[in-house]
Amino acid sequence: MTLDALWRELGIDPATLQQRGVRMVRQARQLTPVGLGTDGRDKLLTPAAARAWLAMREQAAADGVVLLLVSAFRSVDYQAALLRARLARGESIEQVLRINAAPGCSEHHSGRAVDIGAPGCGGLDPAFDQTEAFDWLRRNAARHGYRMSYPPGNPQGYAYEPWHWCHRPRR
Ligand SMILES: [Zn+2]
Repeated sequence: MTLDALWRELGIDPATLQQRGVRMVRQARQLTPVGLGTDGRDKLLTPAAARAWLAMREQAAADGVVLLLVSAFRSVDYQAALLRARLARGESIEQVLRINAAPGCSEHHSGRAVDIGAPGCGGLDPAFDQTEAFDWLRRNAARHGYRMSYPPGNPQGYAYEPWHWCHRPRR
């Protein structure tokens, strides 16, 4: 299915995304496994993001902090399935797009973004920013090239996502 057709099916208005300054994200071509996520499934990242993630997790562990991998690469089709499930629960597309990116626009397509959890705070919970893991990331993630993509008041209009970090090393 083309992106246009997908967006039509989901009721996504391209003009609204443009207004928010949401950009298209190309799907990663090269992916490498980084082990199982908290859902028990294999997770994939680009080779550079994978190396950085594994090194970052190891350094956190050495500091006594556990970083859990909740999600990593997501395909355009998988993103569409996530949105369909939310719409089926009765949410409006406007509500959904504050939380989930439109298919074709998720940083997870790039294979460089991870959602991180902590023991007792497993999945996509705003209270993640109260954890030791978040505090550690705030101080150390940039050294590994990982940055928080959606701080409070982000220009793209997404909800605050303290768990979502993207590998964007500065050169
Ligand atoms: Zn995310």
